[in-house]
Amino acid sequence: MTDIIDSLTEAGLLGRGGAAFPAVIKAKAARENHAGLIVNVCDGELGAAKDGWVVANHLPELLDGVQLVAGRGAKRAKYAAHRGSAAARALKAAGLRVLEVPDRYVSSEETSLINLAHGGLARPLAKRGPFVYGGRDSRGKRIRPTVVFNAETLWRISQISANGAGWFRSFGTEVEPGPRLIAVGGYVRRVGVYEAAAGTPLIEILQMAGGLNPSVEHVGVGGLGGVLLTADEARTVVWDTPGMKQYGGSMGPGIVSVWNPHEDPLEFATKMIEYGAGESAGQCGPCMFGLPALAREWSRFGQNPSRERRSQLNLLLDQFGGRGACHHPDGVARFVRSAMRVLGTTAATEPTRLINLNEGVGANV
Ligand code: SF4
Repeated sequence: MTDIIDSLTEAGLLGRGGAAFPAVIKAKAARENHAGLIVNVCDGELGAAKDGWVVANHLPELLDGVQLVAGRGAKRAKYAAHRGSAAARALKAAGLRVLEVPDRYVSSEETSLINLAHGGLARPLAKRGPFVYGGRDSRGKRIRPTVVFNAETLWRISQISANGAGWFRSFGTEVEPGPRLIAVGGYVRRVGVYEAAAGTPLIEILQMAGGLNPSVEHVGVGGLGGVLLTADEARTVVWDTPGMKQYGGSMGPGIVSVWNPHEDPLEFATKMIEYGAGESAGQCGPCMFGLPALAREWSRFGQNPSRERRSQLNLLLDQFGGRGACHHPDGVARFVRSAMRVLGTTAATEPTRLINLNEGVGANV
C-alpha cells in the first residue's frame, strides 16, 4: 500500500485553512515528532462555514484523515470548535474530544488553539512555532509537539488515500490541485458550501449559489482578512492565486460574501473594520493601538474621501506589515486597502504627517 506521505507528495495538497502550506511537510513533521493533533473546525473567519460542513457531511472520512496523519495518536486528537456551535455538538455526539473555543476572531488562530490545548488562553502565542517540534509558551511553559490541521485538509487527505493522487490532480491547476470547498453567503439565493477548484471563474462559483443579481455592486472574498471586489471584477476574475493576487487577495479559507446592494457599502465596511479592531487580543502594540486608529481613520475617510484623508489612511496602512504576533492586523489592513480601492473616489497624492504606531497612534489621529 502506498504510504500517505508519498501520496501527499504526489498529490501536492495545500492546506485548506487559508495559508496554503504544503500538507505533506506538516504531516511528515507530525509523524516524525509524534505530535499531538488538533483538528480545527472553528470556521473562525467571517463568512466561513466549510469545516463545519465537513463535520456534518463527511465525518467518517474526516476521522480517516485523522487516523492517516496521527496513526496511533488519533484517539488523543482534539477537535477545536466554537463553544455551543453545531459542529461542537456533532463532534461530542460522535464521542470525540472537543476543545471548546471562545467565539472570538483570533481564538481559532493556529497558536491560539495550541495555547488553549496546553492550558492557556485562546490567544495567539507571541513566540511563533513551528510547534510541531514542541516549544515554550510566552510564560516559558513547555508545549508538547503539536500540529493543527483544518477539517477540510484532513478530509482531502482521506480522499487522496482512497482515490489516489492522480484523481486529486484531475481537479484544479498544476500548482493548486484538487477540489476545494467554498462558502458562498450574503446576497445570493442559495447560501451554502460548494465544491470548486482553483482555475474556476468566480462567476461560475457564484452561479452555483444562484448567480450574481444585476443590482449587486460589491463582492467580498476571504472575509475580514480578504479583499473587496467590484461586481464587474467578480464577474471576470479567475478563482486561483494569480487571479486573486491582482486584487491583493488569495483564495484564503474559501469564502465569498456578496454584499447587499440595499446597504451602504461604506457603513458595512466600517462595521467590519470596527469589528476587526475590537477583536485584537490586546497583546501587541501595533495591533492593540493600530487597529482602533485604523478604524477611526477609515471612518473619517468614509465621511470625506478626500486626497488628504486617503494619504493619511495610506500612511497608517504602511505601518502594518508583519508587526503583530499573528496575522490579524495584516488581514484587516489588507481589507482596508481593498475597500479603499473599491469604495474610495479620489486619487492618492502627497503625504501629510507620519504616524508611529509604537508611540500610541490613538493620540495622533
Ligand atoms: S497581532 Fe493582535 S490579535 Fe494577534 S496576537 Fe497580537 S494583539 Fe493579538
